[in-house]
Amino acid sequence: MRKVYFDHSATTRVLPEVFEAMTPYFLEKFGNASSIHAFGREAKTAMEEARTKVAALLNADPKEIIFTSSGTEADNLAIKGVAMFKGRSKGHIITSKIEHSAVLEPCDFLKRFGFEVTELPVSSEGLVDPGDVERAIRPDTVLITIMAANNEVGTVQPIRDIGRIAQSKDIPFHTDGVQAVAKIPVDVKADNIDMLSLSAHKFHGPKGVGALYVKKGTSIEAIIHGGGHERGLRSSTENIPGIVGLGKAAEIAKRDMESSTSRMRALRDRMIKSVPELVPRSYVNGHKTKRLPNNASFRFDFIEGEGLALQLDMNGIAASTGSACSTGSLEPSHVLLAMGLTHEQAHGSLRITLGRENTEEEVGYFLEVIPVVVSKLREISPFSQERPVGSCEGGRCVQ
Ligand code: PLP
Repeated sequence: MRKVYFDHSATTRVLPEVFEAMTPYFLEKFGNASSIHAFGREAKTAMEEARTKVAALLNADPKEIIFTSSGTEADNLAIKGVAMFKGRSKGHIITSKIEHSAVLEPCDFLKRFGFEVTELPVSSEGLVDPGDVERAIRPDTVLITIMAANNEVGTVQPIRDIGRIAQSKDIPFHTDGVQAVAKIPVDVKADNIDMLSLSAHKFHGPKGVGALYVKKGTSIEAIIHGGGHERGLRSSTENIPGIVGLGKAAEIAKRDMESSTSRMRALRDRMIKSVPELVPRSYVNGHKTKRLPNNASFRFDFIEGEGLALQLDMNGIAASTGSACSTGSLEPSHVLLAMGLTHEQAHGSLRITLGRENTEEEVGYFLEVIPVVVSKLREISPFSQERPVGSCEGGRCVQ
């Protein structure tokens, strides 16, 4: 059976160029970057080259890049690190209702220690209003953390405006850039960002390595203590192969961003236009224009996203739904609920996230399959209005 991968916001394939760059650092160049001998120096040089490449992607200084084990760790370091600076045990944090759990959970954790958290609402298209950010600021606000782009619906936030507001009030501004980096230009200076999290596996690098950009002068505390690596902000022997892979992926992202995103954008636009035409009572989630070039999020009346994703999988198409989270819970997506969708609407959602290797032909195949599987599911759906009330089929009745 053919296989089509449309789940690039979950993870991406490591590019052969990235893999090739990494392999010597497992096999021959295996030194510890803290060692003073030649093996160590070789590892350290490779790590610093990778730091320069990541910095170049963001328009940062290499000294401002802290390598971490993931996007989740980068988010935790930014949030807990700023909140707990100099033993601070109280303060106010501003975030939004549609953040990834890697931001919402550290914020919740801090509440246990006396911090207060404001979770801002979003519009029906998933946008945070910078005016709301400004109005939420209090004299004790210690951090503003708003994601650059949403992982479920792809809405791109006005981070430059939010950063400007934060800067004018002298409050550190962190953005979770895990989904945005490599898909839209991010310039930490122009966008007024103090801290930004990224993750290699979202842009064709390896899993288990990320980075936090920390602007020079930002007051932040380490959350992992030990040998004082990464300027004391992240102790632990550095993952050199992973870091080299991240550096290579960043270099490729910078080199190819324009061409690969314009291709993805064209494919996405074809999907967004065609699905509502081909499938009755189907809708696009998220913002019409302010969205990631690779994200097409849909919802379909009368069916469940899980069933749809499974049917697509049976046809060789890998996509995901907004409803099932990493724990396998069937709670509807907090993002879609925050955008004002009902539980039923949120459950009927499907996320397609394209990658640089997807083709017109694959999109064409999806557009052939989707009307068929949706109508098949609707035939057996107890919610479907396509069947008259009172009719029964396969033991399920419409009441
Ligand atoms: N932030 C966002 C917006 C994400 O989409 C993800 C992963 O899906 C993360 C953070 C966590 O990144 P990682 O998988 O590197 O821990």
